[in-house]
Amino acid sequence: MLTSIVGINWGDEGKGRMVDLLAQDYDVVCRYQGGNNAGHTVVNSSGKFILNLLPSGILRPEVVNIMGNGMVIDLEHLHKELGNLKNSGIKITPDNLKISNKAIICLPYHVKQDILEEERLEDMKFGSTRRGIAPVYGDKYLKKGIRMGDLLNEDKLKKHVEQIVEWKNLTISGAYKSTAFCSDDIYNWLLKYGKEFKEYICDVSLYLDSCIRENKKIMFEAQLGALRDIDFGIYPYTSSSSTIAAYAPIGAGIPGSKLDNTIGIMKAYSSCVGEGPFTCEMFGEEANALREAGGEYGASTGRPRRVGPFDVVASKYGVKVQGADILALTKLDILSYMDRIPVVTAYDINGKITEEFPIGSELDIAQPVIEYVDGWKCDIGKCRNESELPKATYDYIKYLEDKVGCKIKYVSVGAEREDYLIL
Ligand code: GDP
Repeated sequence: MLTSIVGINWGDEGKGRMVDLLAQDYDVVCRYQGGNNAGHTVVNSSGKFILNLLPSGILRPEVVNIMGNGMVIDLEHLHKELGNLKNSGIKITPDNLKISNKAIICLPYHVKQDILEEERLEDMKFGSTRRGIAPVYGDKYLKKGIRMGDLLNEDKLKKHVEQIVEWKNLTISGAYKSTAFCSDDIYNWLLKYGKEFKEYICDVSLYLDSCIRENKKIMFEAQLGALRDIDFGIYPYTSSSSTIAAYAPIGAGIPGSKLDNTIGIMKAYSSCVGEGPFTCEMFGEEANALREAGGEYGASTGRPRRVGPFDVVASKYGVKVQGADILALTKLDILSYMDRIPVVTAYDINGKITEEFPIGSELDIAQPVIEYVDGWKCDIGKCRNESELPKATYDYIKYLEDKVGCKIKYVSVGAEREDYLIL
């Protein structure tokens, strides 16, 4: 069975927490896109872990984890992330972690280029995480990337690096007038940080094919959400990869396989990192209260996130582009302090009221249409089944379900592994 777990909103929906929970029913968890530009936070009995590159199944010893060809991997970051987990007693070996030989390496000059471009843009900047993600995906499609598999042939790699660094310096020192990179430094960086991963690098497609023949259960774990997808998101304020479920088999390494189901992770309110249109945004005290209640600060960057009420228009669109079969509603407990809960039910675009998510200039001028529903004003963190939920909480869940047109199966009421209920 092939299942994808994806974000319905702008990312930070709590996917890591849900993957960690649901991974107990799966044999394999695959990351299929993105790099270390976002973080998944997982809290369980072993501690609190921030995962940027490793699949969230890594915290379950019986699960095999795949880093697919659709990913971009900063070796130095992976070295640190792996080290942190190993120091916490998590066992990681080539038996439970396999890295695609086709995944692209994110190099120090990608990070530099990202920073140089954001500085050039000044107040027009995109709010990049400055981790080199846009430049490295750009290079992938320019066919100037270095793949994980290239680490396995050092002589060939050396020549390849020389050519690519010469080309990259046309941009770094030529266009941006910054200090040129030295090809030996890049080569040595690759050897230094690549060394420990050599035994993990393989053709993951062969492994995944064998899993399918053995009827194993495979989960695809997305980073970020529908509205950050390079094609279907709020371009250009998107990520540089495909965050949608349909891309999962491609980015993991089994492009000929079809998904059996898609679980959409949808947050009970909205949050957004970086620049770009965010129609439901709250400001002032109201925003501060929600940000504090939800701990809405970037898992990798610590940046305060923009926050707002649940956005029906954006979420309905997210459900559609993800092709979600069922939903998990997360962070519902965070709304417990509100007397009445605001919900953005439609957008007003120059007097035209719409529930269809607009793209482009219409989105820039869209104004939120807000409705209020009753709050519950009590702690719901201990609720473990439907009958224990206050009526107003249950009504809020059903209201959202009806508005976005997809069944909510899981409801998360806390950060810990067991803080959830099934409807
Ligand atoms: P991801 O990138 O989608 O995994 O999202 P984040 O890393 O931003 O995770 C969301 C944050 O909320 C993490 O700190 C989680 O531990 C926490 N979290 C996830 N689900 C819930 C929930 O239902 N309630 C509460 N209170 N916290 C949650």
